[in-house]
Amino acid sequence: MNLNQPKTDLKNLTQEQLVRYVESLGHPSFRGRQILAWIYKPGITDFAQMTDLAKEFRAVLAESAFISRFNDSMVECSRDGAVKFAFRLDDGEIIESVLIPEEDRNTLCVSSQVGCAMGCTFCLTGTMGFRRNLTTAEIVNQVCAVRDWALAHEKGSLTNIVFMGMGEPLANFERLIDAISIFTEQRGLDFSNRRITVSTCGLVPQMQLLGDQTDVNLAVSLHAADDVVRTSLMPINKRYPLAELIEACRTYRQKRRKRIMFEYTLLEGINDSDADAEKLADLLLTVPCKINLLAVNPAGDSTYKSPGPARVLRFQKILRDRDFTVFIRQSRGEDISAACGQLAGKGWDAEKVEPSAVVAAPTPTEVGKES
Ligand code: SF4
Repeated sequence: MNLNQPKTDLKNLTQEQLVRYVESLGHPSFRGRQILAWIYKPGITDFAQMTDLAKEFRAVLAESAFISRFNDSMVECSRDGAVKFAFRLDDGEIIESVLIPEEDRNTLCVSSQVGCAMGCTFCLTGTMGFRRNLTTAEIVNQVCAVRDWALAHEKGSLTNIVFMGMGEPLANFERLIDAISIFTEQRGLDFSNRRITVSTCGLVPQMQLLGDQTDVNLAVSLHAADDVVRTSLMPINKRYPLAELIEACRTYRQKRRKRIMFEYTLLEGINDSDADAEKLADLLLTVPCKINLLAVNPAGDSTYKSPGPARVLRFQKILRDRDFTVFIRQSRGEDISAACGQLAGKGWDAEKVEPSAVVAAPTPTEVGKES
């Protein structure tokens, strides 16, 4: 073993990669599967606790590898029950995840990048610019940390994961695919594919790859039904205009007859008229889909205004009259800047964070007890 080589973070590895890693150390493949189960079931990060591995092998692992976890986190609770987590990464960058409890589910909104290069004009993350991609481990550790926090605070299990936090997940494609693999592996976090949703602003080539390589749900941020308005809101529309995007959605490989979810943020006077609703209906005529409407959460110095409830209902009615399935999403966590488009990693030093809300990640033993 080369001692100058940096240690491998095993949370960066899928089951298949972990098996290959273990084989490269001269051990049989089933040891890789055993280690994966230790990492994700009881949340072990210390090789010494992997009691069904030989002592010598555990020593070899400790020399060459480690298992990361988020130790430096801050938790802020919204009046409406949403919980925002800020995690400080090893290089000092901060990312955020949001837990959204509902009657029948606990959804975690995870980040895939620090900042975002896509520059959507209504989104605070977009104003940060792009800092870097998250590693697979940094994506996975958001889920592990929140799962442990929720168990320790009797909030129940996580049921759904949505890639709608900071960053464009399809722009960090390989790590996204690896993270999804760890989420869905039985010895990993064991989520069903239908409980995972990837949301994109419309990176057409990667959408096709996602459909080929996974069976997760796809959500597309649409926000306008004509190219001029969409380009003014989402610069990516210049590269992949609506005709191309909608064709990619129409041919997206959805197994089990799932439908694409279109996200449409309503901005007063920009995309919320009756004519806009009709245009949207015409655009989506040939795509099996559902539509989520959300009145904009004004963020930062944004001049966008939220339309009133009557306008949102009217927009929904026009679409429903054209036989679309349309939901109105309520913003969650606005009071802690955790709502859609409000994540910018700025909560760390916020004075409004109650010291009592700062929660250390539980130790592996505590996690073991809870589970
Ligand atoms: S809406 Fe999504 S893709 Fe657009 S800037 Fe924000 S994080 Fe990036």
